Formats: sequence, structure tokens, C-alpha cells
Amino acid sequence: MKMTVIGCGYLGATHAACMAELGHDVLGVDVDPEKAARLQAGEVPFFEPGLSDVLRRNLAAGRLRFTTDPREAADFATVHFLGVGTPQLRRGYGVDLSHVESAVDALAPLVRGEHLVIGKSTVPVGTAAALAQRIAVLTAPGSHVELVWSPEFLREGFAVEDTLEPDRLVLGTDPDRDDSGPARVVAEIYREILESGTPFVRTDWATAELVKVSANAFLATKISFINAISEICENVGADVSTLADAIGYDGRIGRRFLNAGLGFGGGCLPKDIRGFMARADEVGAGRALRFLREVDAINTRRRAALVDLVSDAAGGDVLGTNIAILGAAFKPESDDVRDSPALNVAGQLALRGASVSVFDPKAMANSRRLYPTLDYADSAAAACEDADVVVVATEWAEFVHMLPEELSGVVRAKVIVDGRRCLDAAAWRAAGWRLVALGGPMRV
Ligand code: NAD
Repeated sequence: MKMTVIGCGYLGATHAACMAELGHDVLGVDVDPEKAARLQAGEVPFFEPGLSDVLRRNLAAGRLRFTTDPREAADFATVHFLGVGTPQLRRGYGVDLSHVESAVDALAPLVRGEHLVIGKSTVPVGTAAALAQRIAVLTAPGSHVELVWSPEFLREGFAVEDTLEPDRLVLGTDPDRDDSGPARVVAEIYREILESGTPFVRTDWATAELVKVSANAFLATKISFINAISEICENVGADVSTLADAIGYDGRIGRRFLNAGLGFGGGCLPKDIRGFMARADEVGAGRALRFLREVDAINTRRRAALVDLVSDAAGGDVLGTNIAILGAAFKPESDDVRDSPALNVAGQLALRGASVSVFDPKAMANSRRLYPTLDYADSAAAACEDADVVVVATEWAEFVHMLPEELSGVVRAKVIVDGRRCLDAAAWRAAGWRLVALGGPMRV
């Protein structure tokens, strides 16, 4: 089937390449000419394991192409995925829908005949209904654009796998219209995936929009739950990692997303829970989500707690000390530094007068762009040169499996702060290091 994917960032570029991988003819559309050109040249403009192979294979097969021209999109296909960004507003907790709106504003007047737009971006409940009206006004007489919403659940670092083997597909349609036509088209696009037994949840617009933000609110809550427990563990000397293992054995709870530490960041969870709270206020249900404010507060507090822990480890004050920060991406297997806890901590330590040296295996270019005033090193060892404290802020495998002996001769003091509770504490202590972990003791 022929289709376009509008917005070719983490979500859209992955989606475009994966739809081509399923055998479809795909045109990726982005307003950023550099991004479109790089993708067309077979270069993924961000780090995502496995994506480069899928991209190149499908470009070479002639099933995938990129453009910046909305007219080309309107002429190329009658099915259009919408995956543009929905960042937090500059002021307030609400969601900035300007990219979504300008994407449909550019497309709708150009289409002729019957078209289907499949929204994938994460949006506040009510967005699809409002956009459908906007599109109807812009569409030429005699033409029609049907709008459905199918939120995306992929995880950065596993984006290809999550797109081709999702846990479920959700399709929300206009509750006042017969949805059999659009549902048939969507089922045909995902035929291979659905035939493998993937659950297909069909519902209305509002429910589909809420599924996505509810899922992210739940995940954020789970992380902040264990981090709240870790604050108690810190005070009483209990081991929150062992506690998480023990409660995680309960099938009703599960061990995943129960890792205490520096908390969540990135381009999704923080802005999604805030956007959810803002919309709940607008629809008169603000009270229902008041707990998310606490989830957000617990999460933000972890960053300040790590800064304090590093100060303690440095002898009470970081002024004039050398601090190595290992990790800048908001999580491993990604180069995404949007709302990165690691860089936030690095910035706070620099403000307190430390000389901070940051290293990340994949996120250096993005970090330099976002935090140009920090110092960056070319390797973990280089970042640790003459360090008074080494801080692990992102749990990249390269840091988790780092050998203490390799850093022992490089640093000024053998002090390491484990912000992600991911190190083998016994091995570091056996090598003569002082190891402290965010969230209380690690009794290995
Ligand atoms: P991104 O910033 O990486 O990508 C957005 C892209 O849209 C950019 O390349 C931008 O140039 C392009 N764009 C903006 N306005 C446009 C327009 N009018 N026409 C065409 N292109 C336009 O963002 P992302 O991380 O890919 O997120 C996109 C959406 O997907 C967001 O709603 C996000 O919440 C959601 N989402 C993201 C993830 C993830 O892991 N990144 C997972 C699930 C859902």
C-alpha cells in the first residue's frame, strides 16, 4: 500500500522505515530539509539500534523516499501517518499542538478525493475531534479526509522491534461515523503484525488518546513509587534494590520499571504527565490527576538528591572539585537528551562551582548543542582524569561493565556515585573504591 509519514523524528523515521520493511511504498515528509536529506542519503539523524539497516535496505529496494514537500505527500498516497512532535508549551504544563496543526494545515487543502490521516503523535484528549473540524474546513469541496488516532508506544532503543512487534495496536475513530472503512485500511497496513496475534484494540478517538497518556502516567508512577520508597530506605539504611526484587516477584506488581535511581526524563514521560494534568484541569477533572504532581515532584527531587550526594561524596562541597559525569542521554541505547536527568545534574554541579566533564557513548553531539557550556570528554577514562568524584548518571552497558582497575590510576580520588544503582558495588569496593548509591545502601 502507498502511504506517507509526516514528521520524521524518532517516531516518524522509524515508522516510515518499518512500514517499508512490511512491503509498503512509503514517502517520509519532514519540514526540516537537512533531516529529510540525511534520511534520503541513508543516514539516521539520531541513534537508534538497528534502524540504519532497515532504512538503507528499503531505500535501496525503492520502497522508501523522503521529501519536504506536502504537495508531493498529497499526490503520492491517500493514507498519511502523522508523527510530528508535541512538546510541552514554553509556559505552563500544556501541550504545544502547533506542529500537529501546521502539518494538517499544509496537507488538507492539497488532497483530492478520499484520504485517511492516522495520527500517531501523543496528544491531549480531544485533539482528534478538534483537528477533524479543522481539516474539514480546509479540505476542498468534494474531497474528504477521515481522521483516526493510533497512538505509538515504541521505546527509544527498541524502536524497530517495538514498531514491528508491538504489544498492541490501538485504533481510535470518530464515534459518530462508521469506522469500518478506516479500520479495514489500518488492518491491511498492519496485516502481518495482526496475523502474528497482536491485540488490536478498536475504540473511539478520546479513549485512544487517553490510552497513550494513561500508559505513560502509569509507568511514570511506577518509577516514582520506587523512588519514593528509596527515600525511606535512605533514611533507615534499607536496600531498595533488594526490596524491588522482592516485591517484583509478585506477578501483580512485576519487576520492570522498578529501578530506583535518578528517575525518568526524555521527550515523553515528563511532558506527557504534565500535559495530561493540564488537560484534566481543562475538562474539570484536575483532582483525579493531582497525584501526578507528586509523581513529577518525586522525580525532580531525585536530581537534587544526586547533586547533594555528589557534594557529600566530595567532602561537603563541590566548589573547585573535578567531577566526571558518565552518561548524558536520558536512558541507555538512545542519544536523546531532552529533559535528561544526567545533563540536569551536570548543569547543577557546574553551577555549584565544580569542573564537570561529561562523556556519553552516543549523545555527545546532542549534549553539546543543548548544554554548550559544559565540558565534554572523548572517553569515560578521559572524563575521569583527575576526578574527585565519578558519577554514573546513565546506565549504559559500557559503564555498568567498566572495570574499577581501569579507572583507579586515572582519578584523583577513588570515589564513585552510582546514580542508577547499576554497578557491581562489591567489585568496586574490593578494588578500593568508595561507592555510594542514590537511593540508599547497596548490600551486594
Ligand atoms: P521528534 O522531535 O524527534 O520528531 C518530530 C519531527 O516532526 C521533527 O523531525 C520535525 O522536524 C517534524 N515536524 C515538525 N513539524 C512538522 C510539520 N508541520 N510537517 C512535517 N514535519 C514536521 O519527536 P519524536 O520523539 O519523534 O515524537 C513525535 C511524537 O511521537 C510526539 O508526540 C511524541 O510524544 C510521540 N512519541 C514519541 C516516542 C519516542 O520514544 N520518541 C514514543 C511514542 C510516542
